[in-house]
Amino acid sequence: MKQTDIDTLRAKSISPQQHLIEGKFVPASDGATMDIISPIDGTVLTSVARGTAQDMNAAIASARVGFDDGRWANQPPAARKKVLMKWAELIEKHALELAVLGVRDNGTEIGMAIKAEPGSAAGTIRYYAEALDKVNGEIAPTQSDVLALVSKEPVGVVGAIIPWNFPLMIGAWKLGPALACGNSVVLKPAETASLSLIRMAELALEAGLPAGVLNVVTGQGAVVGEAMGLSMDVDVLVFTGSGPTGRRLLEYSARSNLKRVYLELGGKSPNIVFADATNLDEAAAVSAAGIFRNSGQVCIAGSRLLVQEDIHDEFVAKVVAIAQGMRVGDPLDLNNQIGAVNSLPQLEQNLGFVKTAIAEGGEIATGGQQIHTQSGGYYMAPTIVTQVRPDATLAQKEVFGPVLGVTTFKDEAEAIKIANATDFGLSGAVWTSGLSRAHRMIKAIRTGVIHVNTYGGADNTVPLGGVGQSGNGHDKSLHALDKYTNLKTAWIKL
Ligand code: ADP
Repeated sequence: MKQTDIDTLRAKSISPQQHLIEGKFVPASDGATMDIISPIDGTVLTSVARGTAQDMNAAIASARVGFDDGRWANQPPAARKKVLMKWAELIEKHALELAVLGVRDNGTEIGMAIKAEPGSAAGTIRYYAEALDKVNGEIAPTQSDVLALVSKEPVGVVGAIIPWNFPLMIGAWKLGPALACGNSVVLKPAETASLSLIRMAELALEAGLPAGVLNVVTGQGAVVGEAMGLSMDVDVLVFTGSGPTGRRLLEYSARSNLKRVYLELGGKSPNIVFADATNLDEAAAVSAAGIFRNSGQVCIAGSRLLVQEDIHDEFVAKVVAIAQGMRVGDPLDLNNQIGAVNSLPQLEQNLGFVKTAIAEGGEIATGGQQIHTQSGGYYMAPTIVTQVRPDATLAQKEVFGPVLGVTTFKDEAEAIKIANATDFGLSGAVWTSGLSRAHRMIKAIRTGVIHVNTYGGADNTVPLGGVGQSGNGHDKSLHALDKYTNLKTAWIKL
């Protein structure tokens, strides 16, 4: 990846974007558009269609017909695999273009975006393409005069609502398994991060995905997202985003057709460092990356640092030094390690959390303020707040910004108690040289994912999902396929 190539791509103007419905780009039914603001410098990048409920319903109708007539679902598995493999190849071929486009509206540092966005999305699409003809039904062990077949059928129309922090990666977590199983999909990108997803969907058409099997509708969540949630023709709704929106989606389902709703709602993940950790320097570096990359806008971010009291001051000093050395700025400059906060409201929310943390007794060890204001963009210094009480707002609410709260603990029992004392349960980590302690902690921490002596590692083979108010259902791995299939029992009298 060369700076000159990035600079060439960023200099390109972006034409106004439209919905993708039935294989064609179309404007909003009332012609409305909304501006896309670049978090890099606060300028207007382009516009996207501001969708109406009518637009969403047209996209769902297209997906419904596209499913019912079997143009995708009834293709032989090998043919579907070929299309998805080709799509993955095109995503890789256009990786830098997709990554730069995505950074221009969402602000993630390009070094991370190139891997986490097109790189990861291509890998995920390929993983499910490879899997689609390796998942079999069952013959149940019933009485001898009966043959009982249990097969997995596509659900039909999948609605996918995507957040702005990693649109391609998270989009692919939904699209890969949904399309591999033969479903049609309507995708709703986040208001502030639509551009790269629209382009990735266009590449799916180029790869041979039939028109109508993947539709994209842009616009406001409260309008087009609500129409998707309330539709009688969406069979499964998959979502990554905030808790309040997740709750609304469950309500929409209850008020409409009881569609299955799978939610991934973020967390307040504990990163627990014991005094017996083998390498405190490494732990500090990984812990800093685990909260500050993508400006903390990561659902599994290790946002609560729990440090054993004997090493508290020494360890916090190390993390502070690393945070202060991180280069924050223009996300398309390869010299920067951390990019922009996605939007002004998000930045203001982050600063509000810092204020509250101080009011509740927290002490700023570093950061706490907006930086590079002259750029017009939205940048925040990596921030560390110490003396955070386990019941403080900063220890309980998801900030979704570069703000780390530090709390001390005496022993294992107290670490477990504090770690589990939130409504969330997505991710976490434990740093220790004790094998038995590591296993005790794995069992005791109530999260969907737990790391040992690292933070944030993962790949397509392992599920990601939470417990408690971090959501239900899992993305990634073969387990994700269950969300996109129905079980059908055939009881055959012999
Ligand atoms: P965040 O606070 O991270 O932006 P949101 O939950 O608001 O999280 O957004 C995640 C996704 O949910 C976005 O695509 C957004 O447009 C969508 N969304 C927001 N409100 C609604 C809603 N009322 N119904 C459906 N989708 C919504």
